[in-house]
Amino acid sequence: MKEFDVLVIGAGPGGYVAAIRCAQLGMKTACVDAWLGPDGKPSLGGTCLNVGCIPSKALLDTSHHYHDLGHLLPQHGIQVKEASIDIAAMQRRKNKVVKTLTMGIAGLFRKNKVEWLQGYASLKGDMLVDVTPNGGGDAETVKAGNIIIATGSVPIDIPVAKLDGERIVDSSGALAFAEVPARLGVIGAGVIGLELGSVWNRLGSEVVVLEALPDFLAAADRDVAKETEKLLRMQGLDIRLGAKVTGSELSDTGVKVNYETSEGSDALEVDKLIVAVGRRPQTGKRNAEAAGLKLDPRGAIITDGQCRTDVAGIYAIGDVVIGPMLAHKASEEGVAVAEMIAGQKPHIDHATVPWVIYTNPEVAWVGKTEHELKAEGVDYRMGFFPFRAIGRSHGAGDTNGFVKILGDTKTDRILGVHILGAQASEIIAEAVVAMEFGGSTEDLARIIHAHPTRSEAVHEAALAVDGRALHM
Ligand code: FAD
Ligand code: NAD
Repeated sequence: MKEFDVLVIGAGPGGYVAAIRCAQLGMKTACVDAWLGPDGKPSLGGTCLNVGCIPSKALLDTSHHYHDLGHLLPQHGIQVKEASIDIAAMQRRKNKVVKTLTMGIAGLFRKNKVEWLQGYASLKGDMLVDVTPNGGGDAETVKAGNIIIATGSVPIDIPVAKLDGERIVDSSGALAFAEVPARLGVIGAGVIGLELGSVWNRLGSEVVVLEALPDFLAAADRDVAKETEKLLRMQGLDIRLGAKVTGSELSDTGVKVNYETSEGSDALEVDKLIVAVGRRPQTGKRNAEAAGLKLDPRGAIITDGQCRTDVAGIYAIGDVVIGPMLAHKASEEGVAVAEMIAGQKPHIDHATVPWVIYTNPEVAWVGKTEHELKAEGVDYRMGFFPFRAIGRSHGAGDTNGFVKILGDTKTDRILGVHILGAQASEIIAEAVVAMEFGGSTEDLARIIHAHPTRSEAVHEAALAVDGRALHM
């Protein structure tokens, strides 16, 4: 029987990173994963690389280039007559990006001497795991000193819109459309609904988003959510809030979606329908119970906040445990667990996990929102600065959005930073570093920011906390 110091189950950004770090720390490590790519071959990287972060951002960039041809470039005096898009070529490029990166992980495994076990893992108890080869056959039992469960998550399905893989699809299906749907419906105005809805909107679809909640982007800062909603509507996204889907019917040409709002029943005819109502942990109840693990009502593996389960030697990380379902959160937990197993004292701060929504403009935040601080009774000061007062934004022809910084009234410690604007995904890193170092808004105000850059808005918002912004 093969024996390992550590067996990692799942090779998404949680699992593959954990496996590499374990191997770097001198542990004999294997990583078992069941993912098969569109060619039927095993493919590392989990949701993130195969059908998540990476392919969605590959399409995002294509859609921006295409959209800019007609909307941004003419402002610069650049005229392109009769732009067209070859969706098959776009999809080939996206698939190539995915292949390059998933093969890159296989290379990292080889380099770090992580053994890649291809197949489905079932926990048997006593630190034994059965690995059933892809396509069936006899399982191989392996033994591990430690097990890290990183089995990720899968899309939630709803009975009122059953996937048929053709006209009603989940996010994976929406990343693989062979042509631009003329009329696209999306159920759920969450991260996936807005990102993929925007991608297909920029490529030419008429998009209607049905959201059950009355509030738009309920988790985000209220000012950010309000302005994002306004800008997305201006881009043509038809966002219908408080819309509860009651049923859907396939027709020869598309889908009829029935829904209810406070104003009564309504229906929508679309060519394709994306269901994006959240994801659920992928645990395998029997599998988990066989090993003595406890699950919460959502099916997430219960841990002690340090990724330790109730069973000594078994850890769980990433989407399969509580917390935001984000790739970087999964990876950091993977590193922390590897270091914990090696006897180190790892550092992981769940309070500074950055969020990014890749709409146009991008939304990014770290820390608390104003409504959270109010609910907690925390006294804070707020600094606000719009990109329309930033020179670089004018040069680029994109002045939408703002930076908002929240600081503790007494200590001035930064409590939250909220950005809506181009490149918010990059700019937010400064705020994460500042918060991680326990920085104050005055620290940000006194740091020199290069000119002309969009990050000057962070500087100015920090100055604005103290009422001394320079360019407003
Ligand atoms: P996963 O990536 O889900 O990997 C789990 C792996 O475990 C899979 O390969 C699965 O096949 C395997 N597995 C499960 N059970 C078993 C078993 N019993 N035996 C063997 N293998 C098993 N996050 C971001 O931070 N930024 C983004 O921009 C972003 N964009 C996204 C876009 C989309 C469309 C989607 C769907 C998600 C996106 N996410 C994004 C979320 C991100 O993909 C997840 O948070 C991340 O992949 C979670 O990593 P993980 O390692 O926990 O699990
Ligand atoms: P989500 O939780 O972000 O949004 C789901 C939305 O669907 C919510 O607004 C919810 O109110 C709504 N909803 C739920 N049931 C509904 C129903 N029956 N009818 C209408 N609306 C309904 O989930 P998601 O967009 O599916 O994304 C899943 C996860 O993937 C996210 O939570 C996120 O962690 C991750 N993700 C992250 C990124 C990123 O970091 N940029 C991108 C994509 C996905």
